[in-house]
Amino acid sequence: MEKCFACSRPATGGLRIFSTFLCRSCEQELLLLTADDPRYLFFMEKIRQALPAAAEPLVP
Ligand SMILES: [Zn+2]
Repeated sequence: MEKCFACSRPATGGLRIFSTFLCRSCEQELLLLTADDPRYLFFMEKIRQALPAAAEPLVP
């Protein structure tokens, strides 16, 4: 069974982000967060860690 990267609970439905998985409740939480929310930064960092190297942001 998939395990949510944010809450670590097993989840049957939700959002797959490369090698990680975000459950529906966390997905809904993420949608409600604003960019300056510490929880948003937590999610973004987790997602960034899950990205393959090739998907790094194109910053000079
Ligand atoms: Zn979750």
